[in-house]
Amino acid sequence: MSGEAMNITTEAVLNEWGQICSQLKQEVGEKAFDSWLKPLSVSSFSSGVMNISVPTRFMRNWVITNYSDRIHKIWEKKNPNIKSINFIVQAANEEVVSGVHNSSCRSLLKRIYSSPAPANVYHSGANSLPTEASYVTFTDTNRSLSVPLNPQYTFDNFVVGKSNEFAYAAARKVAESDDVPFNPLFLYSGVGLGKTHLMHAIAWHIKQRDPSKNIVYLSAEKFMFKFVRALRYKDMAAFKEQFRSVDVLMVDDVQFMSGKDTTQEEFFYTFNSLIEEGRQIIISADKSPSDLEGIESRLRSRLGCGLVADIHPSDFELRIGILQAKARHLGCELPSKVAEFLAQKITSNTRELEGALRRIVAHVQLLPGKEITLENTQEVLKDMLRSYDRRITIDEIQRKVAEHFSISVKEMQSSRRARTVARPRQIAMYLAKLLTLRSLPEIGRKFDRDHTTVMHAVRKVEELVQEDRGVAESVESLRRSLEI
Ligand code: ADP
Ligand code: MG
Repeated sequence: MSGEAMNITTEAVLNEWGQICSQLKQEVGEKAFDSWLKPLSVSSFSSGVMNISVPTRFMRNWVITNYSDRIHKIWEKKNPNIKSINFIVQAANEEVVSGVHNSSCRSLLKRIYSSPAPANVYHSGANSLPTEASYVTFTDTNRSLSVPLNPQYTFDNFVVGKSNEFAYAAARKVAESDDVPFNPLFLYSGVGLGKTHLMHAIAWHIKQRDPSKNIVYLSAEKFMFKFVRALRYKDMAAFKEQFRSVDVLMVDDVQFMSGKDTTQEEFFYTFNSLIEEGRQIIISADKSPSDLEGIESRLRSRLGCGLVADIHPSDFELRIGILQAKARHLGCELPSKVAEFLAQKITSNTRELEGALRRIVAHVQLLPGKEITLENTQEVLKDMLRSYDRRITIDEIQRKVAEHFSISVKEMQSSRRARTVARPRQIAMYLAKLLTLRSLPEIGRKFDRDHTTVMHAVRKVEELVQEDRGVAESVESLRRSLEI
């Protein structure tokens, strides 16, 4: 987008915000407006998502509970492109970039170009979930170090399945032991599969057993931020002192320390001294310690020297279980047809699954008497699902191909070489290569084969499609049905 286009858009948005404020002022009265709405400011917007900054967490919770629906409704009327509004806690004294002419746009532009929104945002398109609105902090002693924990992220609220049972057991063991069973506990997985949830659950559990324990949970980014600030203000002694009294240290998403050598060094130091003193450390990352790129090798080997537990992508049953648990929590009955539909469509991660559920629940709760049905689920999630439909999975390909040739997925993955099984298997491998971004070894693993077998299958089907009309038609109709 050119600078000029950006200015026009930002100005339009600021104008809209001004008008919305006037309307709200009339609706709620000057006093309430001055207390709660005046301090809000437009922070950034992109692809239909508007970010509004709020100076404090308390204020954000208040605004979400009392005004977010109204703001959303008014804004949607003015500008149908606005799909959702996030409320982000952002301190009012942040500096702005220089060199931007229009002063009213400065802070907005600065934020558009600055780092991504913090994780603790609230989506007004999905109201009614109490999670972040009720964040609480631990004791005063570590308030400045630890970030608030989500009260919903407990062991009780964690649904256990095959893909996460090991990580869950390891987390429970750490939470329930009086000593330090393994140090560090290193959890890793792709995004949205429950690492943060398990870490918070450990913290809640330990705190419940022994409220005097000093537990610090923070993201690697926050660690880095605090460290850099301490360096800048020559305050290293105080920085180190903060960690001295920590009983349990949890650092989330350490992959963000990648390439940050001095931070890693300080972290290595902190890490070693806590371990030597027998304090529990829990780390999470998106990869195993040995696969973490940009992390120094001595730190990597230190991270992997306790217990390493990974969380795999969830299977269909677990997704159903999670949906039902979350729906119950929201006070909703989720028809099994809808749960199955969502669990089949949204396979990538639990966060997105939950996002879809929140949207549909928010939709029916806004309209009294309305119930969740397959039809309104499909309607409400139309846009979201369209993008999922484009992401075809190997599981889906196996299912469709097996069904087409009347064999079972198990047979397809078996070692049987009979033509009736081998040909569909080759076609499924070919389609997986054609329609997904998976590598040959990744595809091979799904069929319990190595990558050379997949390569051979792809070539074979390419040949067959040229020579054999029956195969060509099967492949074509399967491709079409998968791409719908
Ligand atoms: P990660 O830290 O791995 O990116 P999170 O812990 O933030 O993932 O999880 C994303 C969302 O999915 C959270 O709302 C969490 O409560 C939910 N979630 C993930 N796994 C489970 C599970 N097994 N049971 C219940 N909720 C889960
Ligand atoms: Mg996380």
